[in-house]
Amino acid sequence: MRKPLVAANWKMHGSDQFLETYFPALEQAIDSDKVEVVIFPPAVYLQKAAGLCQQLQAGAQDVSQHSEGAFTGEVSATMVSDVGCRYVLVGHSERRIRHRESSKTVAEKFLAAVGQGLVPVLCVGESLEEREANRTLAVVQSQIQSVIDLAGLEQLTNAVIAYEPVWAIGTGKTASPEQAQEVHRAIRDMLGPAGQHTRIVYGGSVKAENAMTLFNQPDIDGGLVGGASLKVDEFAAICGSV
Ligand code: PEP
Repeated sequence: MRKPLVAANWKMHGSDQFLETYFPALEQAIDSDKVEVVIFPPAVYLQKAAGLCQQLQAGAQDVSQHSEGAFTGEVSATMVSDVGCRYVLVGHSERRIRHRESSKTVAEKFLAAVGQGLVPVLCVGESLEEREANRTLAVVQSQIQSVIDLAGLEQLTNAVIAYEPVWAIGTGKTASPEQAQEVHRAIRDMLGPAGQHTRIVYGGSVKAENAMTLFNQPDIDGGLVGGASLKVDEFAAICGSV
């Protein structure tokens, strides 16, 4: 039985004051027996976020592939773990596209995270062009294969995978439940028998109004939520939809 997971990616939003109102309000609203809820705030707030967590979990939006050294601005997996976080996003499309992270770099980040006992949430997804060229499954499978090649299948099946079609992120366009289910099923098939316990969550303009139909699909185990996660009431409603 896979426990549903719903995560909030705050991206570059939030403040000290925002954390202080958001975390207690969300703690009140969720039931951690039914859903695991992870908040990904900007890195400077991770320590504070981890300290505010009771039922909630905190995680980093990115991690360096290097363990330490002259990498100005980077945060290592050891540091993320040191401040009390358990999760880390790797391969978010904004990093793949804007920061030109290749699938090889993403796989290295994944490996650095598991090496420190963190649980990576591996983000994969196709662009609109790729979907229109019928390349969705090939693109997603190749992004996943890069991680399998470097870290091994077992590490991946113990992680979380977020299917996030790039054309649905921050655009208000959501994949239909059928479109998302098709990709989630293909990902699970690719993982083999161990993939039965792997959580595969959907991301891309998830809101309170569409969460339930998405989460009702057999291979969708929750969501990764950007914009709608910044409104605590709406995000709590999404968490309650699993
Ligand atoms: C995301 O950034 O991971 C995301 C899914 O964003 P949004 O919900 O705003 O589309």
